[in-house]
Amino acid sequence: MRNDTVLPDAPPGDLAALLPPGNVVVLGGPGTGKTALLEAMMPALVAGSVGGAVFLTSSRQAAVASSERLLAASASAATGALGCVTWHAFARGLVTSHADLLAYRGEPRLLSGPEQWSLVRSLLLETTGVDWGGLAPLVDTRAFTDELADFVLACERRLIGPDDLLDRVGAGGPPAWAPAAAFLAAYGERLALEDSVDQAGLLAQAGDLLDDTPEVLAVTVARMGTVLVDEAQELDPAQLRLLELLVAGGARAVLAGDPAGTTDAFRGATPGALPGYAERLGGSVVRLEQSRRLGGPGLDAVQRLQGAGGQAPVALRGGRTTAVEVARYPGPADEADAVARLLRVAHQRDGVAYGRMAVLLPSLRRTVGPIRRALERYSVPYRLGAGERQLIAEPIVRYVLDLFRLALDPDRADELIPSLLTSPLGGLDPRELRALRRAALLADRTLARHVRAPSAELGVDARVAGRVTRLCRLVDQAGRWVGELDADGCFWEVWQNAPAFAGLVRRAEADPTNAAAARQLDALAAFSRALALFVDGRPGASMRTYLDVVERADFAGDPWLSSAMARADAVALLSVNAAKGREYDVVVVAGCLEGTLPRTTWSQGLFEAWRLDGDLDPVARAQATLDAERRRFVLGASRARDRAVFTWSRAEGRGEPSRFLAELGVQLPGEPSPPDQTPLEPLEAAGALRRVLTDWDRAAAERLAAASTLAATPGVDPGSWWWRRDWTHDPEPIAAEGRLRTSYSRIGTYEDCHLRYFFGSVAGLDDRTSYQMAFGKLMHTVFELAAKGEVADGPEALKAAYRERFDPAWFPSRAVAHQFWRDGMDMLELWHRSEWEAAKRALAFEIDFAIAVGGHLIRGRIDRIDRLGDGIALLDYKTGRTLATEEQAGSSLQLAIYYLAALRDPELAALGAPVKMQLVYPARPRQGRFTRVSQHPGPDHAQRVEQRLLTLLDGAAAESFDPNPHADCRFCQFKTICPMWPQGESFLAPAQPPAGLTTSGSGHEQGAGR
Ligand code: SF4
Repeated sequence: MRNDTVLPDAPPGDLAALLPPGNVVVLGGPGTGKTALLEAMMPALVAGSVGGAVFLTSSRQAAVASSERLLAASASAATGALGCVTWHAFARGLVTSHADLLAYRGEPRLLSGPEQWSLVRSLLLETTGVDWGGLAPLVDTRAFTDELADFVLACERRLIGPDDLLDRVGAGGPPAWAPAAAFLAAYGERLALEDSVDQAGLLAQAGDLLDDTPEVLAVTVARMGTVLVDEAQELDPAQLRLLELLVAGGARAVLAGDPAGTTDAFRGATPGALPGYAERLGGSVVRLEQSRRLGGPGLDAVQRLQGAGGQAPVALRGGRTTAVEVARYPGPADEADAVARLLRVAHQRDGVAYGRMAVLLPSLRRTVGPIRRALERYSVPYRLGAGERQLIAEPIVRYVLDLFRLALDPDRADELIPSLLTSPLGGLDPRELRALRRAALLADRTLARHVRAPSAELGVDARVAGRVTRLCRLVDQAGRWVGELDADGCFWEVWQNAPAFAGLVRRAEADPTNAAAARQLDALAAFSRALALFVDGRPGASMRTYLDVVERADFAGDPWLSSAMARADAVALLSVNAAKGREYDVVVVAGCLEGTLPRTTWSQGLFEAWRLDGDLDPVARAQATLDAERRRFVLGASRARDRAVFTWSRAEGRGEPSRFLAELGVQLPGEPSPPDQTPLEPLEAAGALRRVLTDWDRAAAERLAAASTLAATPGVDPGSWWWRRDWTHDPEPIAAEGRLRTSYSRIGTYEDCHLRYFFGSVAGLDDRTSYQMAFGKLMHTVFELAAKGEVADGPEALKAAYRERFDPAWFPSRAVAHQFWRDGMDMLELWHRSEWEAAKRALAFEIDFAIAVGGHLIRGRIDRIDRLGDGIALLDYKTGRTLATEEQAGSSLQLAIYYLAALRDPELAALGAPVKMQLVYPARPRQGRFTRVSQHPGPDHAQRVEQRLLTLLDGAAAESFDPNPHADCRFCQFKTICPMWPQGESFLAPAQPPAGLTTSGSGHEQGAGR
């Protein structure tokens, strides 16, 4: 019989004394002190005469946090037993210390997430005993492995074995479960054969151990005495069984949890089941109803949300005031910026420590990038906890992996070299990289090719050149290591040979408080261990195999947690789910969009793992899904003590605010919130005051106040303000002796907008290698190989050559990759039907040229040259879909340059007179062939082209870089730093001239005050 008691509002130590004897389930809403109550019980239990206590929780971070609090609060030095562990750690202790009873031949090897996936994949590829039926064509895909690896773990968590699964098929379960049951059996056998166990299997085996060996149960219970379970609403069947066995063996259990707070239902937890556990364990129920965290609007909002879910929450009273705010922003970048700014203002103005703030995101994997970049821009320190980042995403580890990626695939140099250069392995700073990029542009080659030039030709100072050369040498060495050594050995060689790592060790030794160096060393040590374990499990496994396994993006949390960062005063950046059990002063829940929070679409999955928990009809399943999402939202909404901020923005004009925002009971803003103008730094404050000061529309008093504040602001010197300057003032001219070396595409950019040319080609800010470029290069290659006869005759050979070279990793998503893949296939069809014959008769392909124009040099490449009557036609393939008109082709600068090149380049001139230049569009069929638009040279074409070019080349050489008000800005990436656009006006825009300074002249440098 259940005995519900409401505990009074008292300190945790007093409450612990009020708990009834026997097994107890403590129910409480957010912030009611459940964890604190369990922690308060620990010291007395550990010190007491009847057994001790084991304190269990669901996540490693919660376990670490509780252990730290327990140890900090303990006055005694004998604190060995004072700690909190995860269920997995507890089960691992049982299994490894009784490995012989479980028929292991030594200590079992615990598989990490990637290793479990890898085992499923290799079993799938080598096991032929499972008849997958209609699923057979999918078996060797990675997506199938993803699904099956998850399904295997889902079964283990729910204690469902192969026979149970088969029985469920007989009872109407999905037919795919029949082969999955056979696979599950094979998987279990392989694990036993290799003396290994996966994470979910640990719990099941610990349960088997206690069930089958009463003496082990008796010893365990005698040693533990009491088992304290935090986050008990998340217990899965395997954990629950373990708990029931311990209680049956004589242990006392005290469970604490929020019955309305289950967010791990997908892992097998049963929502709302917690109060019923008291009956199962023969215990009593007590309630905590006073929230120490929430109050006022924040508490009202949480209760409204819970009420909307239809599930009765625990009664909750609050004593504080938690403010609730909702803000909308125009787009994700503005939202990320606003969030970073908000945190910085809260820290600087309101004095909130960074470590007391958090940003919660619906899905870290998809949305963390913009937020991280914004936090870095605003100098807001942040940390990602274990489970929030994979070890391989840790920057220092990522660079090492990038080194090996490059060593294994030198074609990725354009993509990987820039970040490697600025990594610790390269050692360049962004300014040095820009200088190198600029030198590459002036030398007219890609950065990847340029770094391979002799040191003296790199065009940068000797110190930088030395670092570049050392990095290239390391890449070459890595190329040898990946061919000769296993993954572990490869890392060891890099560790020994990269000077950066020796420097890192020196820095950490010289300054033990250097958190950044400590974190990098921690990460490298953890990475080394992970590699050693990987090779241990798969002897001889190469770096390619390792990369193949870890490049899957969706492993759950890995076991690495940087101790240096865990304690740092930094904003926590977490997924909503990972915020369980945490509390902050300020919490921002970002990305509150319908479709994201709540997620409104769920894949069924090949194996429909959700049916393991019962077969719901579609309406009931949709309702259950929505309720689960609401609980997730409540979790995020209930983490803040003082201030909870919910933000959302539309991505590319699409997206509606989360329905849960309406349930909060606050007014949603109809329009995007204006940017926060609060200055963050003296310079920003000075800028804002100067704007007020020079705004004639403002009241005189306001301007006067701005002037006096400016005068009193330290570090502000009106003498250093400037109002006008040239776009560049580099004493080194861009074009030595006024002679420019450029390409037709760059000078084409200059013609459209001088400033864009400056940003992209002179300042070296254009480092984009777009997927469109990669795709275009591929199509050019296939067309050329086919026309030269290097691909066998026939559409299948053509497509095979395409398939071999197409890499979905170029594209931002699989959907985009798929679209391009289809476009490419269509182009090849058309090419084969109507272009191949003519292409085979072409005179030349991919011809490089270099021509002099008025003392300048223009380089370029022509895709194809055809014979046309007595003359030649010059062709350029455009694989994009935007079609130029005949008129645009007639005035195309690119085609005009081709014409000049065909007249002046001796090799091209020998082929005949140019009579037509064409842009050819493989993606745009017209009348059964590629669409073509042409330029036909008139009698004075050469002179007109030369004149047009000279104006541009002289302008660029003379460093005339004004923005063009009539430029085609649609695809310009520099809008944010272009004074022609509102978002960039403050970057280069001149201020008003101080009185007395001349407003005429050629634009002298007046100092650089901004
Ligand atoms: S945004 Fe327009 S004006 Fe500004 S640099 Fe780009 S193309 Fe030129």
